[in-house]
Amino acid sequence: MPHFLLSLIIPVYNEEKNIHPLVKDLLPLLENYKYELIFVNDGSVDGTVQNIKDITSHNPNVKLVSFNRNFGHQNALSCGYQLAKGDCVITLDADGQDPPQIIPEMIQKWTEGAKVVYAKRIKRVNDSFFKKSTAYLFYRFMNILSDTIIPENVGDYRLLDKEVVTFLNQLPEQSRFLRGLVAWGGYPAEFVYFHRGERKAGTTHYTVPKMINFALDGITAFSEKPLRLASYLGFLTATLGFIGVIYALLTRFFFPGYWVTGWTALFTGIMFLGGVQLISIGIIGEYIAKIYKEVQKRPPFIIKEKINI
Ligand code: UDP
Ligand code: MG
Repeated sequence: MPHFLLSLIIPVYNEEKNIHPLVKDLLPLLENYKYELIFVNDGSVDGTVQNIKDITSHNPNVKLVSFNRNFGHQNALSCGYQLAKGDCVITLDADGQDPPQIIPEMIQKWTEGAKVVYAKRIKRVNDSFFKKSTAYLFYRFMNILSDTIIPENVGDYRLLDKEVVTFLNQLPEQSRFLRGLVAWGGYPAEFVYFHRGERKAGTTHYTVPKMINFALDGITAFSEKPLRLASYLGFLTATLGFIGVIYALLTRFFFPGYWVTGWTALFTGIMFLGGVQLISIGIIGEYIAKIYKEVQKRPPFIIKEKINI
C-alpha cells in the first residue's frame, strides 16, 4: 500500500439517491490507499445526511461535515479543502458524473510530479446544445477578459497536491471561484481525460440564473477589463456626442430651414446613451458588490455538525 494519504471531498446538496451507489463505486477503489472520504453536506433537506451516517457509523475513514444551511458549491469545496489532511486531495461530484475509475490515473500523474491534475471532459456528448454553447461562450469570454487562462472543459473534478491546498487555504479572499484560483496559482498541471455521463439521480443545481451568477463571479474575480470597457464605451459615446453637437450647431446656423427635424437622431442618441450608462453603472456595481462582500468578512459557511473528523 502506498504511504501517502489520499483525501476525497464530495460536496452534497440533496443527493440522497446518489450516496450509496457512489460509495459502492468508490470504496473498492479506495481500499488500495490510505484514504479519507469527506462529505460536505451543504444544507441538504432530504435523506442525504442519514444515508451518509449509515456509512460513517461503521467506517471511520468516511467523514461528514454539515452546514447550517445551503452555502453553495464553491464554499462547500473550500470547507473540504480546509479539513482535508491528505498529501493529495481530489474533489468530485456526488451525482456519478465524475467517474472514480480515473482516480488511479490522476494519482499516477501526481506521483510523476504534477501538482494539479485536472479531469478533462473529452466531449460534452450528454450536455444539451444550450449547456454546450453557454459553456463555450463562458470560457471564450473569460479567457479573453482575464489574464488567468482557465482550461476549457474542466470542472471541479481535480486532484491537488497538499502544497496547492495550503495555498488555497491561505488566500485571504472570501469569494472563491476555485477553478480560477487554481489556474492563477500556476502550479504544474496535467490532464486526465474522461467521458462525462448523465447525472445518476436528481437534477442539476446549476440552473440558468445560477450559471449566469457563477460566470459573472468568475469574470469579476479575475479581470478588471469590464471596468476598462466601461471607460472605453464612455470615451466612444462622448466622441459621438461631440460630433453630434457640431452637427447640430452647423445645421442650426447654416441650414435654419431644417433645424427642427432630427427627432430620430435625438431619440436614438438618448436611448443609446441611457443604455451605455446603465451598463457601465451595472459593471461598476458588480465590483462594488464584490468589495462590499470582502469587507463584511462574513464566514463563507457555518458548520453544524462533524462526524469522524
Ligand atoms: N452542490 C452543493 N451545493 C450547491 C449546489 C451543488 O454542494 O449549492 C453539489 C452537488 O450536490 C454536486 C456538486 O455540487 O455534488 C455539483 O452540482 P451539480 O451536479 O448540480 O452541478 P453540474 O454537474 O450540473 O454542473
Ligand atoms: Mg453534476
